[in-house]
Amino acid sequence: MNLIIMGAPGAGKGTQAEAISKREQIPAISTGQILREAIASGTELGKSAKSYIDAGNLVPDETVIGIVKDYLSSDACKNGFILDGFPRSAAQAEALKKLGVKIDAVLSIEVSDERIVKRMSGRRVCECGASYHTEYLKPKKEGICDKCGKELFIRKDDKPETVLNRLKTYHEQTEPVIGFYRNEGLLVEVEGQEEVEDTTELVRKALWSKIKK
Ligand code: AMP
Repeated sequence: MNLIIMGAPGAGKGTQAEAISKREQIPAISTGQILREAIASGTELGKSAKSYIDAGNLVPDETVIGIVKDYLSSDACKNGFILDGFPRSAAQAEALKKLGVKIDAVLSIEVSDERIVKRMSGRRVCECGASYHTEYLKPKKEGICDKCGKELFIRKDDKPETVLNRLKTYHEQTEPVIGFYRNEGLLVEVEGQEEVEDTTELVRKALWSKIKK
């Protein structure tokens, strides 16, 4: 299965990507996580992306398109893939189409701005990419990652003023891409729930009926 997951920041794209990845045994690639890792390790990619991410703006199209192109041509994707957070602009969607990669479904997780803002204040992440929530997705031990035992922290771009800009960017640049996939007949819309398991179940059912058709 070749899948795209879309949704506002904090809608739960990463969490759902992980659940589908486990269930379907296909890799999930998060452009946001790749960029954060590049920043942490001080690479040229990281240096060029940092100011955009910190301000809640999109990293330039050529940069992310390059990342995704390399990844999709790698062996890891030969049995399918999940793109988490890509495409986020019309130019990125066009570039993906030009690559000629067949997409089976585009999942959009819908959450209102009001709930996004509330949710983001409770998000805690680990440098390994795992994501938790102080209310909805607690780690077994408070403040510690279940997967690698490292200390959890608040993402710099999760602070309220940056979240508002990320939402603005989402509405202006990414939402039109949802319309593009709707026209292509690929869109699967799911309302994000408060409880992660409830969203996971809705996503499972919605994707199953889409792919089966
Ligand atoms: P995410 O982890 O998906 O919330 O992404 C975090 C940040 O990385 C975003 O706010 C953008 O600054 C940047 N980013 C991630 N994916 C993309 C993309 N496809 N296009 C441009 N910027 C991106």
